[in-house]
Amino acid sequence: MIEFSHVSKTYRGVRALDDVSFAVGPGCVTGFLGPNGAGKSTALRILTGLARATSGSATVFGRAYAELANPGARVGTLLDAGALHPGRTGRETLTLGAMMIGLPRTRVGEVLDLVGLSGREADRVVGGYSLGMRQRLCVGHALLGRPEVLVLDEPVNGLDPQGIHWMRVLLRGLADSGCSVLLSSHLLHEIEQVADRLVLIGRGRILAQGTVAELSRGR
Ligand code: ADP
Ligand code: ADP
Repeated sequence: MIEFSHVSKTYRGVRALDDVSFAVGPGCVTGFLGPNGAGKSTALRILTGLARATSGSATVFGRAYAELANPGARVGTLLDAGALHPGRTGRETLTLGAMMIGLPRTRVGEVLDLVGLSGREADRVVGGYSLGMRQRLCVGHALLGRPEVLVLDEPVNGLDPQGIHWMRVLLRGLADSGCSVLLSSHLLHEIEQVADRLVLIGRGRILAQGTVAELSRGR
């Protein structure tokens, strides 16, 4: 469902990605792990049409993101926490997100339930939210379109162990219903319980990939 094939990206002489190839199939939660500056965001931005590869191709459902019909609904992406308006409620934030991709308002209530922000919390302004609540809201944005593919850049960043557990249960449930999930992280302990498979990246190159068990046996 997600495929990177020989993707390289150079920014004015800086090689951010070097011949990156890997795939994520349906029902799989894949963790994209590497230190800051390794190239994770660049790869995810290329996949979701926000940046262009210098060479190679990144596809979703066999096509470039920009060639999909209604890509914003079919491919779920995390709302950037920096883009949250502190004076808007959680419900208003997701309602705007739903309008942008042509979805009915009724979907907003369902998503708020799914991310555990129903009831009074949904009608409080985001400025008063905890970090964990903000992160749930950003994940909710990704789920609006009932996407078959989720591309999440650092979704567990800043979550406490309970939040990480919540994320694991949520993503596992989505994967079990056939969704392909790709999430990035720079911390192994944040991601190892969440992901079925890991793809390790360092300095723009894929270093290893496999299940957590395989990688910890050093294969
Ligand atoms: P990560 O997400 O793993 O932290 P990034 O993809 O953000 O890594 O960055 C990979 C490398 O590419 C870094 O050296 C970063 O400074 C560089 N880079 C990322 N975006 C740009 C850009 N728009 N212009 C120039 N260099 C960039
Ligand atoms: P992340 O930590 O999620 O990778 P960054 O802070 O690295 O995010 O990047 C945020 C934005 O700045 C992105 O649009 C990225 O492309 C851009 N950027 C990152 N590194 C550089 C750089 N060295 N020069 C110019 N732009 C950069």
